[in-house]
Amino acid sequence: MTRLSTTARTRLIILGGISAASAFVLWLLERRPGGHDGDYTPPLPQYKRGMRERDYVRLIPEDELVRVKGLLRRVYNLRSWFNDTESISRAWVNVLAAAQKPEGGGWKLDFDIDQVTPSQLSALCAAVELYFLGGLLAQQIRKSRRPALKVLPGEDPRDPYSWLSGLHDDNTIYINANRWRETISDENPMNFEGALCTSKLEALAHALGHELVHAVVLNCFPDIDAASVAYLPDDKHGPIFMLLNKKLFGHVGHASQRLFNIA
Ligand SMILES: [Zn+2]
Repeated sequence: MTRLSTTARTRLIILGGISAASAFVLWLLERRPGGHDGDYTPPLPQYKRGMRERDYVRLIPEDELVRVKGLLRRVYNLRSWFNDTESISRAWVNVLAAAQKPEGGGWKLDFDIDQVTPSQLSALCAAVELYFLGGLLAQQIRKSRRPALKVLPGEDPRDPYSWLSGLHDDNTIYINANRWRETISDENPMNFEGALCTSKLEALAHALGHELVHAVVLNCFPDIDAASVAYLPDDKHGPIFMLLNKKLFGHVGHASQRLFNIA
């Protein structure tokens, strides 16, 4: 009969301990919901308006999130600033200043929608695109030979009271002309997705920013535009829209409303 030396016995005890620990870890993995032996996979929470960023971001499939983040990096490089509040406010001020110059369309802060020309609308949209997207969307549209962006006054029969009418598949953005006959001023401002607008021009620039988010998705990620479970909810204002609208334009939520109830 051989007697085990103390060292050999210690080794055996350690090995035994390691295999017991491994078995325990394996058992835990098996029990994990979604583990190959588990019969319970908890459903992903449904996207709901008003969710916090850290909650809705979790609803974006990993591969789509990687692509969205890659796009944000390219935009930040092109426009050479990130998405801090100060830079975003400065960019909006720059857009409004550019739009009021003759080459930017000679816009008035309190414009008359019936006098606005398509070339003024195009110039304003191009300024928002250039300042906020650094020209990435325009590049992508040229590269993929898609129709150029066009902005026209129109009416959305589904939602004639919205400040927007939406983006169509041919890259035309319609704005609800009726709505833009109202006044927006210091005394009667509007909250556009978290941005306080004290002029119609300011609100229109923000409205175009919102539509450009849809245009980015349509032209850069047509598969996401067509079928993503993280983009389609809430009429294409799901988690991917919310994330891009915030990181590109500083917009939170997608509600716009008057601050005071003045007709
Ligand atoms: Zn929208």
